[in-house]
Amino acid sequence: MNLDFSNDEKEFRKSIRQWMKENVPDDIRRCTARGAMLDKNMQQRWERLLGSQGWLTSTWPEQFGGPGWSATQRYIFDQERASAGAPPTSPFGVAMVGPVLYTFGSEAQKERWLPGIQRGETLWCQGYSEPNAGSDLASLKTRATRNGDHYLVNGQKIWTTQAHWADMMFCLVRTDSTVKQQQGISFLLIDMKTPGLEVRPIYSIDGHHHLNEVYFSDVKVPVENLVGQEGMGWTIAKFLLTHERTTIAGVADIHYEINRLKSAIDALPTETDKQLAVRRLAGLEVDLMALEYTNFRTVAATDEGKPFGPESSGLKIKGTELQQRVSQAMVEIGGLMSLPWDNEEPIGEQIFNQASRRYNFLRACTIYGGSNEIQKNVLAKMLLGL
Ligand SMILES: Cc1cc2nc3c(=O)[nH]c(=O)nc-3n(C[C@H](O)[C@H](O)[C@H](O)COP(=O)(O)OP(=O)(O)OC[C@H]3O[C@@H](n4cnc5c(N)ncnc54)[C@H](O)[C@@H]3O)c2cc1C
Repeated sequence: MNLDFSNDEKEFRKSIRQWMKENVPDDIRRCTARGAMLDKNMQQRWERLLGSQGWLTSTWPEQFGGPGWSATQRYIFDQERASAGAPPTSPFGVAMVGPVLYTFGSEAQKERWLPGIQRGETLWCQGYSEPNAGSDLASLKTRATRNGDHYLVNGQKIWTTQAHWADMMFCLVRTDSTVKQQQGISFLLIDMKTPGLEVRPIYSIDGHHHLNEVYFSDVKVPVENLVGQEGMGWTIAKFLLTHERTTIAGVADIHYEINRLKSAIDALPTETDKQLAVRRLAGLEVDLMALEYTNFRTVAATDEGKPFGPESSGLKIKGTELQQRVSQAMVEIGGLMSLPWDNEEPIGEQIFNQASRRYNFLRACTIYGGSNEIQKNVLAKMLLGL
């Protein structure tokens, strides 16, 4: 593996850095620098801006509207995006349902849905988990019954991130309960404004509303919104989960967080505090370097045209563990300065003022996208043959 960037790649980096400097909106940059949450308006403004450059869907093949970048260019773009203080994009449209649609969708579905994702106009959410179907996703019960030219959907989803923002949901439903569990699942696209669909908020431990329960009561979904054939949902779900896990590692954003922490060391009250913080940061940086090298391997493999394999599970485990450790270091190094919660009166260095909220939220990252225990099972099976 050659870790040197070519001259073209260095030029590419320069042009992206310049664009970020000139175009990341100030309010969004400030919000990220404080470690605060973006609201819907900010998130969508940022995604539309990337969409207007053709960069929002940078992972898509050129024939479906991607910019034609190599995996190395995408990697550079992500580094420059994060170090400019710009947020990651929401994964549901770009990284999840988009690849499903251009891989399994009909021509009509591609024409109808891909442009809205590309331009950052249509927001999506993921309707997989149910109260009794999380890790054991194949036991899901939400039912879709065919009735002429439409399905009637009944049941409940849970933990649906951004369902209250979304225009559309991609949803796993049971269309046949007489066959093996996995074979009776189908993949439907559901308009969130359809009568009979109700979104109820769940407030998570950080005090914010990211998550929802979604209830379906005779929700009418046109048959043309079925992706692939009936019973193909499990194959599509597995394909999509691999894409989801690769995006969760968040190497570039961990770099940004560590740099944020570094920039606050001077504000610590005593020399001992500063030295302890430096030592702790050094340990985190070494682990980040190791994660980054694993990431380089997948970048190199992708540039050679190899598909994602079980390494996406390894990246998910290590990336999320490191995100949690960095957020814990932030709280502990900040001490009293980390106590204010969101809009409370700040104490001392502002960088620490969202640290407790962020620490609490990130407890979830080893659960979502398939829990880390499940990823270890995947590695045991796929790599070790156990
Ligand atoms: C913040 C957040 C956002 C989310 N967003 C979405 C979303 O947008 N859409 C969506 O569909 N879902 C979403 N989820 C749901 C998420 O995918 C599930 O929480 C996850 O798959 C785990 O399922 P569960 O919560 O039912 O836990 P369970 O499956 O009940 O697991 C409980 C515990 O048992 C362990 N466990 C279970 N089975 C095994 C096993 N076979 N071997 C070893 N250990 C095991 C798990 O690792 C976990 O620690 C979100 C979750 C969170 C926390």
